[in-house]
Amino acid sequence: MNKKIYNFSAGPAMLPEEVLKKVKKNFLNWNNIGASIIEISHRSIEFNEIIKNSKKYLKELLNIPKEYVILFCQGGARGQFSAIPMNLLNKFNCADYINSGYWSYQAFLEAKKYCFPNNIYVREYINGKISISNMKKWLLHKNSDYIHYCPNETIEGISIYEEPNFKDKIVIGDFSSYLLSQKINIKKYDLIYASAQKNLGPSGITIVIIKKSLLEYKNSDIPSILNYKKNFLFQSMLNTPVTFSWYIISLVLKWVKKKGGIDYFEKINIKKSNLLYQKIDDSNFYINNIHSKNRSRMNITFQLKNKKLNDLFLKEANKFGLKFLKGHKIIGGFRASIYNAMPLSGVEKLVSFMIDFENKFK
Ligand SMILES: *Cc1c(COP(=O)(O)O)cnc(C)c1O
Repeated sequence: MNKKIYNFSAGPAMLPEEVLKKVKKNFLNWNNIGASIIEISHRSIEFNEIIKNSKKYLKELLNIPKEYVILFCQGGARGQFSAIPMNLLNKFNCADYINSGYWSYQAFLEAKKYCFPNNIYVREYINGKISISNMKKWLLHKNSDYIHYCPNETIEGISIYEEPNFKDKIVIGDFSSYLLSQKINIKKYDLIYASAQKNLGPSGITIVIIKKSLLEYKNSDIPSILNYKKNFLFQSMLNTPVTFSWYIISLVLKWVKKKGGIDYFEKINIKKSNLLYQKIDDSNFYINNIHSKNRSRMNITFQLKNKKLNDLFLKEANKFGLKFLKGHKIIGGFRASIYNAMPLSGVEKLVSFMIDFENKFK
């Protein structure tokens, strides 16, 4: 039996072993410069190389067109919940917030501090399963400055795979647990952002990919650190960035590229998630209540029909080397976060554990 320990944490989450080994090996004396990467200036030639590479890899991997710029921001995705309305509210002083779950609703709550956003609830039930209504049916407002939504609700494990096609609307996406997991068409968006600690690297940095034209928006009275234009002009170094996280992100991006890019990960992510959902659907012992068209490939949530077994399931899973499967407290149950760094063997081991546990306790 596979003795390896697998970490299903939702974020910060597991990173590729290859990357961590490289970090370890180079930690005391990075590239033979006689210092650690965390001991040198963010403005040094050496660090500039890391910045250049991370932008280059992101552009290649995501096919980012020329009219976009990449910013590396601080304050997490939550910082963006504030930065977005502060920078992008315009003539209507109003925005559409699509509510598909916890994180998209948090973004709405933050926006309420700056305007009267529209809370647009898009969940519906099909055959008793949670699903997201088609974008055509979303009740958008004519007089709103932008629309904000979240294509992967990390806590509930709900994804929206449909691509946005809203005429004359600025479209913003919270891609925190989605970026690099599958192909996306950047052109469909005006701004996307992702905090790093799900699928990109350690916590500390948030990647913002924004259309250059949006940098010209007014709003000069907002805090400089949240100001997109300023961040662009200062090359994301208005203050001292989290150099260690940035460095690790550049290594993760290189690893993604080496493995075969997003095409490769999309295929394997479909395979991994299908394997787990198949196991859940094949039994009367485990339940997932998300409709197949909106099931996340990154965060797979499930419940035990017999909730009395919850603690035992976690305990046994732990013993078996399957860690951090506990679901978020707002929905309970279990969650297996299987980002790019999780190998197929981790999911296979989880599935074989679930089969054994079911046989023992059903
Ligand atoms: C984790 C997460 C956030 C919050 O990220 P922080 O970096 O902690 O602010 C926001 N949105 C989504 C979709 C997330 O998964």
